[in-house]
Amino acid sequence: MEQAVPSSPLEQVRARIAGAARMAGRKAAEVTLIAISKTKPAEAILDLITQGQRVFGENRVQETQEKWPAIRAAHPDLQLHLVGQLQSNKAEEAVALFDCIHSLDRPSLVSALAKAQDKLGKRVPCFVQVNIGAEDQKGGCAVADLPTLLARARDSGIDVIGLMCVPPAGIEPAPFFALLDKLADDNSVAGLSMGMSDDLEIAVQLGATHVRVGSALFGTR
Ligand SMILES: *Cc1c(COP(=O)(O)O)cnc(C)c1O
Repeated sequence: MEQAVPSSPLEQVRARIAGAARMAGRKAAEVTLIAISKTKPAEAILDLITQGQRVFGENRVQETQEKWPAIRAAHPDLQLHLVGQLQSNKAEEAVALFDCIHSLDRPSLVSALAKAQDKLGKRVPCFVQVNIGAEDQKGGCAVADLPTLLARARDSGIDVIGLMCVPPAGIEPAPFFALLDKLADDNSVAGLSMGMSDDLEIAVQLGATHVRVGSALFGTR
């Protein structure tokens, strides 16, 4: 009998995405896997790059400034996404560092990012983060404020490519993913950044275009 070859975490995550896509009648290629490398050292990132991963995510501007310039210089084809809350006074650094921002969630940040884009002559595609479970402590705009924020972002020249959410911990995420999908439809945005290590299959089945996976690739933090 053939022995099963133990697969790497990256292969396992790719297989999970492919399996979920197949069940939903989607193509795995419609889903971008973002490897969330926050708190992880450069060696762990380089290991994934060697295995073919090209899209990474971080949640802090300062950590990214420390870790990524050297890696990027050696691998110019990488994409780097910001998935953490962004202070307006870090907008310019964020525009300089990242290829995509998933945490646009308030009018003051729209203004700061628009200004930074103009100053640096660089446009960074953004997801608008929605506080999908209406949790006090979480980032993201309220569902009711989404149309106004989207209009303001578009008017300011920000390229909004989708919606992003982090559902409440410890409860079934499917209704929240389904709601994000509906909000995207209602507001004519195409992308859906949703699904993490524990729930990426459900997210892919409900239409995720970007999944953000940390611990399943890098181990626990
Ligand atoms: C850390 C983080 C992730 C990855 O979480 P895992 O459970 O480790 O896969 C995804 N999205 C955001 C916004 C994060 O901060």
